[in-house]
Amino acid sequence: MTVPTIALNDGTTIPQLGFGVFKVDPEQAERIVTDALEAGYRHIDTAAIYGNEIGVGKAIEKSGIPRDELYVTTKLWNADQGTQSAFDAIDLSLEKLGLDRVNLYLIHWPVPSRDLYLESWLALEQIRESGKAVSIGVSNFQIEHLEKIIAGSSTVPAVNQIELHPAFSQAPLRAFGRLNNIATEAWGPLGQGKYDLFDLAPIAEAAAAHGKTPAQVVLRWHLQTGNIVFPKSNSPERIAENFDVFDFELSNAEMTAIDGLDEGKRVGGHPDEVS
Ligand code: NDP
Repeated sequence: MTVPTIALNDGTTIPQLGFGVFKVDPEQAERIVTDALEAGYRHIDTAAIYGNEIGVGKAIEKSGIPRDELYVTTKLWNADQGTQSAFDAIDLSLEKLGLDRVNLYLIHWPVPSRDLYLESWLALEQIRESGKAVSIGVSNFQIEHLEKIIAGSSTVPAVNQIELHPAFSQAPLRAFGRLNNIATEAWGPLGQGKYDLFDLAPIAEAAAAHGKTPAQVVLRWHLQTGNIVFPKSNSPERIAENFDVFDFELSNAEMTAIDGLDEGKRVGGHPDEVS
């Protein structure tokens, strides 16, 4: 199965479906990422703070998959924002991953109370120039944070990775992204299991109509919305299930009904508050 790609504003492309490893136990990460690579995923989304970059790197190495067939993202943690601390942080992430470059390096949260995100962004520009990250972007940035780094640097972020699922569909940030050529990545695409999306009528009915699971319908909604998505699962069955989303299509009516589930409710922290 070839996963569709999304073109980023720096001339690179990213597989639209990947595998996320938030809350994947560091001891289990090698096995779980190996399961994902065997299921066909070629895009892995990790972060320094997840503590599992070593396991991710071991799975990549053992897979024997050529490096240029893999897309690896990691993230600069809040405590490492700044210039030299960002340089040190990418070096440590690369060492743990066993890689000489990541495909995408993100500022994990803006942390406006520290006001270091523009300085950190300028450091990420240098990290990209050094070749340690092919593309650079941000995560959990609100419109005002994006405006500040666009105005204060010469690089528009390639992506903004934000909480996004049918109950929190982030229309204003997605529209800002479309306007400014910033791709939207959806974290918590299944509501992190904290929100019972799967029993909601538009999702359950579409699942029954297509002979797919509610999780597959939600992932299909993301793909047809244009989001980049990387569901996490510890289970080999669900890892495979979440990859099996390319043999059906939601109708316009089904998409509209799922769009109508937006309640503007987050399952995660607010970007102005997370530090
Ligand atoms: P998800 O929305 O991917 O939900 C994961 C939960 O859903 C787990 O409890 C998992 O359980 C369950 N699940 C997975 N597949 C299925 C399925 N087919 N049917 C039923 N339940 C399922 O949440 P995440 O927070 O993990 O988001 C995805 C990724 O986004 C992260 O792993 C991370 O890479 C990234 N992220 C980024 C953040 C940021 O601040 N930038 C914040 C949070 C996440 P089980 O494991 O038992 O299958």
